[in-house]
Amino acid sequence: MFATLSDRLTSTFRNLRSKGRLSEADIDATVREIRRALLDADVAVPVVRAFTGAVRERALSAEVSGALNPAQQVVKIVNDELVGVLGRETRTLRFAKTGPTVILLAGLQGAGKTTLAGKLALHLKGQGHTPLLVAADLQRPNAVTQLQVVGERAGVPVFAPHPGNQGLDDVLPAGADPVAVARAGLEAARQRHHDVLVVDTAGRLGVDGGLMQQAADIRDAVDPDEILFVIDAMIGQDAVTTAQAFADGVGFTGVVLSKLDGDARGGAALSVASVTGRPILFASTGEKLTDFEVFHPDRMASRILD
Ligand code: GDP
Repeated sequence: MFATLSDRLTSTFRNLRSKGRLSEADIDATVREIRRALLDADVAVPVVRAFTGAVRERALSAEVSGALNPAQQVVKIVNDELVGVLGRETRTLRFAKTGPTVILLAGLQGAGKTTLAGKLALHLKGQGHTPLLVAADLQRPNAVTQLQVVGERAGVPVFAPHPGNQGLDDVLPAGADPVAVARAGLEAARQRHHDVLVVDTAGRLGVDGGLMQQAADIRDAVDPDEILFVIDAMIGQDAVTTAQAFADGVGFTGVVLSKLDGDARGGAALSVASVTGRPILFASTGEKLTDFEVFHPDRMASRILD
């Protein structure tokens, strides 16, 4: 995913290796290359500006240390700033002290929410939790069935509003509204002692007011402990406006980057946490339910600078 960015940064640093001491001009040239590499990777302009400004300042004032040569020092600074942009600390899910923990998924259609619901369910199950998935995406004809398929693969029950669900007795009238489904799902989780509820919501192709309102209504009905904004890492420069629209319309406590396995340039990954101030919790790296990882900012930075 970060192949090009990674190559560009590595070759920038390679050029520094032969230098005994870095002049201001050397540092400026390096910072310019870093800026170009980040912009070409679709990182949002304000993020690039802040990033390169910080790198320049720190490189200029870096103490000459015995342990690191100048090139290594710059790599260390860039690494540290990358970790900062990606969120610094690994942030794990917050669980409710009492009652079921409610996790609401939000994002554009096709972002990977339904797939993520299955991945998250499997991950939670592996940690000894007893999740229940709730199909509150009634917009797309296939969404409920798709959630049932991933639920079955993960071995986790799905609360869905369709009559005739195989093996499920959660039969609400067809056409029930998503808010009612989410609320009923929460009640079902309480009654059946599921300790985590993962609510899948509808997303349309673009950011749209009705969709935002629906997600906000579901949020108000189930009072989530976490609202995870799922974003397709391939959307490049649009990442920031989309994230901002969801931050304003629904609000979210964390980000999930999906499709990190693609050949996108990585800009979304490097922009969203920084622009919204919300941590990235997970990364989705493929279509299989096991293509899923807890997001560690430090490891991701090392991968980029590898
Ligand atoms: P939703 O509309 O947000 O629920 O998105 P879906 O979960 O239906 O995902 C949309 C498409 O992206 C599906 O074809 C998924 O198989 C695919 N997809 C989801 N996550 C990933 C991922 O991490 N990597 C890849 N390559 N494909 C993914």
